[in-house]
Amino acid sequence: MSTARAFFAFCAISLSTGASGRTQAPIIDPAQSARLRMVETQLRSRGITDPAVLKAMSRVPRHAFVPVDVKAFAYDDRPLPIGRNQTISQPYVVAYMTEALRLQPEHAILEIGTGSGYQAAVIAELVKHVYTIEIIPDLASEARRSLATLGYRNVEVRSGNGYFGWADHAPFDRIIVTAAPPEIPQALIDQLAVGGLMVVPVGTASQEIVILSKTAAGVTQQKTIPVRFVPMVGKP
Ligand code: SAH
Repeated sequence: MSTARAFFAFCAISLSTGASGRTQAPIIDPAQSARLRMVETQLRSRGITDPAVLKAMSRVPRHAFVPVDVKAFAYDDRPLPIGRNQTISQPYVVAYMTEALRLQPEHAILEIGTGSGYQAAVIAELVKHVYTIEIIPDLASEARRSLATLGYRNVEVRSGNGYFGWADHAPFDRIIVTAAPPEIPQALIDQLAVGGLMVVPVGTASQEIVILSKTAAGVTQQKTIPVRFVPMVGKP
């Protein structure tokens, strides 16, 4: 099957009912059924249970964050190239990290590694405000554009080096890092609120997702699943 046909094979037309109760004109969401299938077969079946996370992943149009030549694969079980040698993570990894953050609606979040902006959009569905930093200026502007087009007003994208965090908006309730540093940057630990969590892939050749928890008594770290992220560059 050609790439284009494979994508449109996912097409679904849904009818919406307005406040008056009358059935309105059909809204065409060409990717809705593919996205719901992704949630069932890739996320729920592998143990993602947080209903808010599953709902966010079923709402955010992943295909709107990937380049046109890979849109047909937007809901596949794998990472995808987004240009400049960078990738958007596999949907399961996005869901796993989002669930591990244990987000609350009032939270302010810092993300390092905006990439396409997809992970930021998923988090933006669940919290008050997302601050996200991307080191490649072109990716930062593209992500800013994608997020604005989709109407995400609670995400601020900055082009810069995430090793320094974003001191002006610290402390953050949660920090997520989506590029892999060799070890957790101290500035990020400093900018995490007491009572906060950080979810970060750590390592070089082999990497694991680490969940760092900061309390008044200090910092503890728990290693979880093995992963493969692009390296976090620009270490000072
Ligand atoms: N979260 C992204 C995927 C991240 S890919 C998404 O949902 O699409 C990792 C990103 O981290 C890349 O875009 C890369 O340019 C960026 N990155 C690498 N080192 C960085 C640094 N020091 N500061 C900020 N961004 C960095």
